[in-house]
Amino acid sequence: MTATMTPHLPDLRIHIIGAGMGGAGAALACAKQGFKDIHVWEAAPAIGEVGAGINIPPNLARVLDSWGVLSICTDEGIVITHANVLDCETDEVLTTADYSNYMEQNFGYPFTTVHRSALQKCLLEGAKNSGVVTFHLGNFITEYDFDNTRFQVKHRPRGANGDSTVTSGGGASDAVTGRLAEGGETEWIDADVIICADGIKSKARAAMMARKGEVDEVEDTGQAAYRIMVRRSAINEDPELVPFFTGTQSYRWIGEKRHIIAYPIERGDLFNMSTTQPDRHFVEADTWTAVGSKDEMLKTFHDFCPRVQKLLNLVPEGEVLEWKLRAHQPLPHWIDGKSALVGDACHPTLPHIAQGAAMAVEDAAALGVILAKVKSKDDIHQALLTYQNLRKPRTDWAVLTAAANSKGLHTNDKEARNQAFRDVKNGGPNPDKMISRDIHDRLFLYDVEKDAAQQYDALFAKAKDE
Ligand SMILES: Cc1cc2nc3c(=O)[nH]c(=O)nc-3n(C[C@H](O)[C@H](O)[C@H](O)COP(=O)(O)OP(=O)(O)OC[C@H]3O[C@@H](n4cnc5c(N)ncnc54)[C@H](O)[C@@H]3O)c2cc1C
Repeated sequence: MTATMTPHLPDLRIHIIGAGMGGAGAALACAKQGFKDIHVWEAAPAIGEVGAGINIPPNLARVLDSWGVLSICTDEGIVITHANVLDCETDEVLTTADYSNYMEQNFGYPFTTVHRSALQKCLLEGAKNSGVVTFHLGNFITEYDFDNTRFQVKHRPRGANGDSTVTSGGGASDAVTGRLAEGGETEWIDADVIICADGIKSKARAAMMARKGEVDEVEDTGQAAYRIMVRRSAINEDPELVPFFTGTQSYRWIGEKRHIIAYPIERGDLFNMSTTQPDRHFVEADTWTAVGSKDEMLKTFHDFCPRVQKLLNLVPEGEVLEWKLRAHQPLPHWIDGKSALVGDACHPTLPHIAQGAAMAVEDAAALGVILAKVKSKDDIHQALLTYQNLRKPRTDWAVLTAAANSKGLHTNDKEARNQAFRDVKNGGPNPDKMISRDIHDRLFLYDVEKDAAQQYDALFAKAKDE
């Protein structure tokens, strides 16, 4: 575990925009490094439970462990022992990756599934317990002045009716919908460093790109996702469904242009299901998430096997959350002056290798290590470039790998696809990158804090010339 360090400039005024995975992670990373003046600005008035399940792969577990918060996150989680890929119509198991000893033996940590709120809670609790992080909720950042390292905040008006208890990663917060409460004071805040972790719709990214004459273009992938959960209490001990809750396995049912990935969370009280399908609803809409129609969901997966149909039918009406899956080409730069982008703001990653949150937290950890090494405020820009140059090759690769993975899974050549999966046991390459050994090695062996510490001097010297 990383003990609290003494950075060269402990009083650096570090201001973080967004209390999602990247922002809360950055606050905790900086607190662990010994910084004492850390502020997190979050648009949503409260931080509530949102989303559904999320994976804690070994590369993310390593960082959380180093910060001393891993158990807060994984206490109620499920250690996955087997990851199955199945034909969506016949329910045939096409291949199974056995994680039982493999994960811990090879990568030092198991592969755990948790409720998304558990990950956010461990980061927020860690940051709050440090005593050096101040959270400013209900404050929307409207403008940046990167030349002078400051930003404008619009405070939530007193007595404003919070339209959301949802934050981080696609809830209905003001930040996500882009709505601003009427009234409310504005104020400019000066910082020494601004860490912009404001998610896929990042205003900071748009502002940085506009200053360089670039267009901030979020790509429409043509895909959408339902995120749904079935409660154990709803299944009436149906023997066909009980093993989904009592077991320690994940399931990916694949079909043409669609798949469903599912796993238990919350000590087996919930079975989390996340789908991907062609996007039919959001084409004209200006919001990115919505409560979807259960009927529409059932129609979309009408040809999936009876076990899956049963599960989908048990999802309560009104609890079908639908997300539009957006992507962004790798950005040329993440830094402007003494401000840096973090997480989805600079590398939104499709969920198909389950690494978006992990990459955001890795960014945060790298920033903590790098900022702690800065000896003078004049070196902050160069240090932030060092962070960017350390992180970009890895996150660019993750973004492209996640995008490529859905192509292999969603092909219309069913026979060839199924055969390729069956051939895995004979040594063939695994068409699902998320469970393939070579991808695991690259993703899970990585220790971001160690890498940042080791590469700092060389990358910092190189950044001088940029
Ligand atoms: C369907 C789906 C499934 C996924 N599954 C997984 C998974 O299993 N594993 C995984 O690792 N990742 C997964 N991800 C990705 C993961 O959710 C994101 O990559 C991660 O949440 C990014 O964290 P972030 O901090 O960058 O952004 P976010 O978590 O989106 O946080 C951004 C924060 O900034 C705030 N904000 C925005 N604008 C402003 C503003 N102007 N002023 C103040 N505050 C602002 C927002 O309210 C929000 O709290 C999935 C994503 C999707 C869409």
